[in-house]
Amino acid sequence: MRSLRPGIVWLIVLTIGVLFRVLLRDHLYLVAVIPYMLVSVATPFVILAGVRLHRPAHRAGWLFLAAGQLLYAVADGMTVADDYLSGEFLEPTPADLLYFGYYLLVAAAVLLFIRRRTPGWDLPSAIDALVVAFSAGLLSWIYVLEPLTSDSELPLNAKLTQSAYPVLDLMLLILAVRLVMGAGTRGPVLYLVLGSLALMLGVDSAYLATTIAEGGAVIETSLDCLWMISIALLGSAALHPGISNFDRRTDTAVPDASPIRLAVLAVAVLMAPGVQFLEWLRGDPVGVPLISGACAVMFLLVLARMSGLVAAQRRAAVTDGLTGLHTRRYLAEALTTECRRAARSGHAVGLLMIDVDHFKRINDGYGHPAGDQVLREVSRRLKAATRAGTVVARYGGEEFAVLCPHTAPRELQSLAERLRAETAGLPVEIGGELLSVTVSVGAAVLTGPDPETLIHQADKALYQAKTDGRNRCVLSTPDQVSH
Ligand code: GH3
Ligand code: MG
Ligand code: MG
Repeated sequence: MRSLRPGIVWLIVLTIGVLFRVLLRDHLYLVAVIPYMLVSVATPFVILAGVRLHRPAHRAGWLFLAAGQLLYAVADGMTVADDYLSGEFLEPTPADLLYFGYYLLVAAAVLLFIRRRTPGWDLPSAIDALVVAFSAGLLSWIYVLEPLTSDSELPLNAKLTQSAYPVLDLMLLILAVRLVMGAGTRGPVLYLVLGSLALMLGVDSAYLATTIAEGGAVIETSLDCLWMISIALLGSAALHPGISNFDRRTDTAVPDASPIRLAVLAVAVLMAPGVQFLEWLRGDPVGVPLISGACAVMFLLVLARMSGLVAAQRRAAVTDGLTGLHTRRYLAEALTTECRRAARSGHAVGLLMIDVDHFKRINDGYGHPAGDQVLREVSRRLKAATRAGTVVARYGGEEFAVLCPHTAPRELQSLAERLRAETAGLPVEIGGELLSVTVSVGAAVLTGPDPETLIHQADKALYQAKTDGRNRCVLSTPDQVSH
């Protein structure tokens, strides 16, 4: 509770600021804007105070936000002064340049947050963000940028300056969507940062829309108040104790297809055809090539996302979660293919069945997690001792299978012996204790097209290795079992 106190004080300051902005609305703008300016100037220092207070591991993002907010406050000050002093600047004015600097610094901050929170590239989230951004970009183009740039009376420099704002807003929107749709801790800090960005983009759009409708800049008390809240929310985020682990990296990169995510994507995907239909209803089917192009890009993005999902499902189905080895299902597929190939070419196919000796004792004596650790270590040793391309699978609980195509009985026997020796050679360390772990191996070679017989023969040989005293290999051939 104590750590929340600075944030609460800052919220009270903000509320008083908003109240005064409303109370002063009928005064000269130079006076009415004072509460807004005070909050705007204070925010960068509040962000710095939050960073000092909670000492997040990585400060760069927050420092960028503070610097950006400072540029914003100076730019606001210049805009207000400009209205009352000279008012004779060619666009882009120095204030415009500072505003652009603000956008770039905030974008850099959000990018840093995303990089820190995301393991790898997290392509699925990037595609989701692109779908949303594309749809927002289309709306922005049709309803903001086009009307802004089609005003033929404006000189080119003014047109370019004015259209830079929606483009920069769009850039921030893409990053904000990427932040929310990507990996990382949820919680008040994320929602405060997103709330600030969303409000900023919303008010900016409302301002642009009124400017376009009115044909000139407008001053609205409500817009000022919302801007003030949006700025101050960044301060609240920095004052929250959650900034200490805000950019902690998470392990899972592939996002869940949660109902909210699907709903957002559905709205985004339907936006382009929706806009086209609306324009057609209004009898003015504008931008047909543009909207068709947008639809095509959306389809391709959705397809890319789908193929990613299918590949992830496939990977999950053929990879064992505990050991990272192949699954029994993958082994079955590979075995069928290899047996068929062997029947055609006459090559031998070898199979090893490997079972950890007295594994129950490890589980019973050291606990299930220790048993899991032994399974991971045995898997690592089996994988390390086989050639790349050899299929090493977890067949069941503490049973493994190794599929060796093109392997003659003698080679198979020496591989089996190598795997046994690698496992038994070094004890496994569990919580500071050294455990001796051994395996028994059953080996079988087949030249025919029948995987079941091969598994059966290897299993029989494994059983023989167990009854012969464990920690040994037994090679079976279709008609005999040899040691
Ligand atoms: P044997 O030498 O005859 O193979 O003796 P054993 O104790 O290894 O006997 P058995 O193969 O019957 O025991 C397998 C045990 O492995 C039983 C089960 O509780 C345990 N087990 C199966 N899957 C897992 C797992 O994923 N993690 C852990 N920790 N234990 C598992
Ligand atoms: Mg066992
Ligand atoms: Mg077993």
